[in-house]
Amino acid sequence: MSKPIEEWRKKKGEVRKQNKQFLKRLGRKKGKQLDALAENVHDEVFSEVDCLQCANCCTSIPPIVNQTDAKRIAKHLGMKLSKFQDEYLTIDEDGDMVMRTTPCVFLQEDNYCLIYEYRPKACREYPHTNNLEFSKHLKLHEKNARYCPGVFHILERLKKLELG
Ligand code: SF4
Ligand code: SF4
Repeated sequence: MSKPIEEWRKKKGEVRKQNKQFLKRLGRKKGKQLDALAENVHDEVFSEVDCLQCANCCTSIPPIVNQTDAKRIAKHLGMKLSKFQDEYLTIDEDGDMVMRTTPCVFLQEDNYCLIYEYRPKACREYPHTNNLEFSKHLKLHEKNARYCPGVFHILERLKKLELG
């Protein structure tokens, strides 16, 4: 296991309360500047965190699969949309269509995604810390720091910049 992932495993529980307070303070900051800064920190962190050594998102969070995703994946698998929906998808407690199983059925043993080129939009965009969208998802980052070593380290670095 790489050092950043090991550090996340050890410390993710300890920083929960601190992250909550930090993100609350960040919520009062201007979005654009924060988004630009977060984008840089995201790139730095993900040059060190190897998703292929982690795959915790694919293991523990069923992604939302919208209708466009479902059509694209069903076509790729050579299945009828209705059969794909019946076999692979379910509706979660928020009423969203999501992958039926966790870990995701498309996650392979080597942590590669079997449908990578066709994967849902939610998988492409996770963990929502880049694309200048960081400040739109502050609440989500608090939760995701527990699931994603990348988010954990992004928040740790932002905290060191004393933004709050
Ligand atoms: S579709 Fe692929 S990227 Fe998305 S959760 Fe499943 S294995 Fe992971
Ligand atoms: S949980 Fe975060 S670090 Fe792990 S695979 Fe997913 S995006 Fe990458």
